[in-house]
Amino acid sequence: RKNPKPYDVDYKVLIIGESRVGKTSIIKRLNDEGFNENTISTVGLDFVNVYFDIDGVKVKLQIWDTAGQERFRTITRNHFRNTKGTVLVYDISEKESFEKLEYWAENISIMNLDSEIVYIVGNKNDLEQKREVSFEQGKKFATRNLMKFFETSAKNAENLNEIFKNLAFDILDTN
Ligand code: GDP
Ligand code: MG
Repeated sequence: RKNPKPYDVDYKVLIIGESRVGKTSIIKRLNDEGFNENTISTVGLDFVNVYFDIDGVKVKLQIWDTAGQERFRTITRNHFRNTKGTVLVYDISEKESFEKLEYWAENISIMNLDSEIVYIVGNKNDLEQKREVSFEQGKKFATRNLMKFFETSAKNAENLNEIFKNLAFDILDTN
């Protein structure tokens, strides 16, 4: 008799945004928080598996990083294939990364054919003294685009588990 699968449902999530906003740091932080499995380095993409219990349903999120390809604007439809949730990240201490959200949001709407759920995440909110984008600005952008908004810090992991648990809940709810 085979072992039962350690999860009931399995969803792919993509983390995207400007270079240096902290996407890889978020993946790494999720990886050492202990509520996950492993990071696999392959050609091109890295991911981490994170498990949540949502009202008795064991949900596996396979969260993918773009492994530096965002820098060269070489994100393709392939990256988005079967993606059920997209996390669009900017850096609250870099106004330019916030201004580029428009570009990424447009990219997502063109290439992201499978995912209805997009979250906007302002990272590095431990850098309060260097803040260039207010919470309200982030919230406003997200609301205007019918997306949920969060701030976090890959450095101190504030809010990070909650964001992805929320995402697991929303994906489960629409699938
Ligand atoms: P990526 O290019 O989006 O994958 O960004 P990285 O994860 O490589 O991070 C870029 C830089 O920002 C690195 O020097 C990180 O240490 C730093 N960084 C990432 N997240 C945070 C954060 O939440 N707070 C602070 N203070 N620095 C961060
Ligand atoms: Mg990276």
